[in-house]
Amino acid sequence: MKKRVGLVVDDRYLKHTIVRPSPENPERIRTLSATVRERYRQDCVIYPARAATVADIEAVHSRFYLEQLSEHELRPEPYSYDRDTYLMEHSVATALLAAGGCLELADRIMTGELEHGFAMIRPPGHHAEPGRGMGFCIFNNVSVTAQYLRRRYQLSRILILDFDAHHGNGTQEVFYDTEEVLFISVHQRDIFPFTGKASETGTGKGQGYTINVPVFAQFGDTEYTFLLGRILQSVVEQYLPQIILVSAGYDGHRDETISGTLLSTEWFGLITAMLKQYAHETCGDRLLMVLEGGYNPVCLEGSVLATLDSLLSSRRDKIGVSFSDRANRLLKNHPMQSWWTLQ
Ligand SMILES: [Zn+2]
Repeated sequence: MKKRVGLVVDDRYLKHTIVRPSPENPERIRTLSATVRERYRQDCVIYPARAATVADIEAVHSRFYLEQLSEHELRPEPYSYDRDTYLMEHSVATALLAAGGCLELADRIMTGELEHGFAMIRPPGHHAEPGRGMGFCIFNNVSVTAQYLRRRYQLSRILILDFDAHHGNGTQEVFYDTEEVLFISVHQRDIFPFTGKASETGTGKGQGYTINVPVFAQFGDTEYTFLLGRILQSVVEQYLPQIILVSAGYDGHRDETISGTLLSTEWFGLITAMLKQYAHETCGDRLLMVLEGGYNPVCLEGSVLATLDSLLSSRRDKIGVSFSDRANRLLKNHPMQSWWTLQ
C-alpha cells in the first residue's frame, strides 16, 4: 500500500545547542526522533532534511539580517541574539535545515507523492520576523514554506493555522498585507510576545486575512475545540485554501509550565483529525504540519505521537464539539466575526 504520510526526521537538528540551559535545546527531540523512526518506519516515508537556499530565506528575511547572522556565526563563544535566541557554530546551518525540511515535504505534497507531512524540526520559526530572530526562532520556517509555495507552485490561497501557546508574530508580520495567505493564530493572551490582539486583522489587501484569537489561561480541550471548530469550518468553506499549513506548537499542553493553557495530549490528535477532514474536503488532502514550541520532552513526545497516529488513521470520525460559553463569548465579540456569522 502506498504510504501517504511523510515525516522529516534528521539528527542534524540536534546540532544547534548551547552550553547554558535553554528550554529550546536538543533534548526536546532527541528521544522523540528515535521513537518516531522506530514506530513509523513501516507506515510513513521518513526523509532527511535538505537545506533551504538563500533565495528561499530571502523571500521572507532581509539581506541585512542574513548578513548579521553570518557575522555572528563566526564567533566561537555563546552569543545570545536576543534574550532567548542563541547562535552557535551550527545554528545557522541547522536553521537552514529546519526551513528546508518543510520545503522537502511541501514539494512532495504538491506533486501528489504525499497527502500529509509532519516536519519534526528545530529551531522553531514562528516568532522570527523579516528583520530579526527572536523567541528561540532564527528563520520563520512556516513563512518560508508559504512563500515557496506561492513562488514555485503559484498558490494564492494558503491557510496557516498556528495553535502554539504563543502568538505567531513573525508569521503575522510577513503576511499582514496579503490575501494570498490567511493566518489564524489561537494563543494565550498577555504572554510573550505580547502581540496578537483580536484587533490585529491585516492591512491593505490583507485586511480581514489575519485572525487572532487570544484566549485566557485555563482554556483547555473543550474551549479550543469549540473555537477552532467554528472558525476553521467557516474560514475553510469561504476561503477554499489550496493547502493547509500548521504551526504545530505543543506548549499549550497542561503539563507545560511555559503557558497556562490546559490542553491534553489527546487534543493534539483531535485537532489533527479535524484538520485532515478540512484538508480532505477542500484541498485534496494537502496538510503540512511544522513543529514549533513544546519544551517538556515528555509532553512533547506524547502529543507528537498523538498527532502522527491521527495523521495515519484511516478512520473519519465525526469530531464531537461541545458548546463552551466562555469561548462563544470570545467569538461573539470578535472583530473578524463576519467570517463565522455569514452562514
Ligand atoms: Zn510557543
